[in-house]
Amino acid sequence: NRRPKVVILGAGYGGMMTATRLQKANMHREAEIVLVNKHNYHYQTTWLHEPAAGTMHHDRTRMKISDVIDTNKIQFIKDGVQRIDSEHQKVHLDGGELDYDYLVIGLGSEPETFGIPGVSQHAFSIRSVNSVRLIREHIEYMFANYNRQDEKQEDLLTFVVAGAGFTGIEFVGELSERIPELCHEYDIAREKVKIYSVEAAPSALPGFDEELVEYAMNLLESRGVEFKISTPIKEVQEGKVLLENGDEIKSQTIVWTTGVRGNPVVEKSGFDAMRGRVKVEKDMRAPGHDNIFIFGDCALIINEEINRPYPPTAQIAIQQAYTVSNNLKKLIKGEENLEEFKPDIKGTVASLGGKEAIGVIGDRKLYGNSASAMKKIIDNRYLYLLGGMPLVLKKGKLNLF
Ligand code: FAD
Repeated sequence: NRRPKVVILGAGYGGMMTATRLQKANMHREAEIVLVNKHNYHYQTTWLHEPAAGTMHHDRTRMKISDVIDTNKIQFIKDGVQRIDSEHQKVHLDGGELDYDYLVIGLGSEPETFGIPGVSQHAFSIRSVNSVRLIREHIEYMFANYNRQDEKQEDLLTFVVAGAGFTGIEFVGELSERIPELCHEYDIAREKVKIYSVEAAPSALPGFDEELVEYAMNLLESRGVEFKISTPIKEVQEGKVLLENGDEIKSQTIVWTTGVRGNPVVEKSGFDAMRGRVKVEKDMRAPGHDNIFIFGDCALIINEEINRPYPPTAQIAIQQAYTVSNNLKKLIKGEENLEEFKPDIKGTVASLGGKEAIGVIGDRKLYGNSASAMKKIIDNRYLYLLGGMPLVLKKGKLNLF
């Protein structure tokens, strides 16, 4: 009697949480469980703006998968996923093939460029440890280069962050904290450095509470950030951003944060998708596929109150992993009454660098220090769910205030 094989693609929030939930329930006794990820480490995507700006070392955002998952119970394969062949129940990897009985797709996202020319060639993105390490090194290199030039090149010290959504604002917050340190280190006057936050929509942090947005903008402006709101970008070229209004900003550092789309593997594998995200059934399965679950940034679920998709967040990916792991347990045990996913949005907190943040928890608004402490509690809570107190003590943000 062969044990069914469960293959989990991606060791992000969704994938790691599913694997640990199945491990805790001892499901390896009833099923063969395989986790596939392109790195041998898991990183917390929601922390990446910090190592990108250089306010935190990237090692703090990542952990070896084998330190969290018991690889005697769950097989880990370090490889890249290329394509899923659902007809033959196979996954094509860079280095081979895998078959499955049940598949879980949690491959995260890639930057949304809206087809704007030049973005993928000339802009940085905040998406992985590799990509943020490059941003940090590049920023330092700009500072190191500036004083070496006889004719001072202002574009070396001009930083453009495209998109003033959640990620853009969090990154600008960290960057505005880091710049004074870099100025000090490289003997450069603070006024020489320009940080632009460029947003096409009529407000920063679209959809967020207006009072909190104002607080965030005032704070960031006081740290020298210049906002260009209602300012769509037309094109990115080497060393400059062209705006729809005819202006241009010369900059050697353009960071693209205008939202995400689902991992391209999803569309490449023939799933019906909107911006790379599959509109999943209530039990988190892909329509027409009884043995494939899709979650996190690869899945789309509708907020029925406003009839619009929920924004992709770690919060939702983690909650979906609970539903998916419960449903996998049921399927393995031959039960058919699968659970429906119901999001329970507890709130949103955006960090603004240093000890500053803004957020809404339930119907309470939070500013400054208390919001920043709440953000750290949220980050620690995830580590607790994943690896208990030992992981919080090892990787957590223990200095709350
Ligand atoms: P991810 O956590 O992105 O994991 C995907 C995994 O798949 C990664 O390990 C990746 O290496 C792997 N992978 C990708 N492609 C392949 C491949 N081809 N083969 C093998 N492996 C592959 N959300 C919140 O709820 N709160 C926040 O405060 C918040 N802040 C954010 C701040 C920033 C700077 C960013 C960028 C995002 C933030 N988000 C936040 C959004 C959140 O990070 C994502 O929604 C979340 O990471 C989605 O989880 P996931 O499991 O779908 O994918």
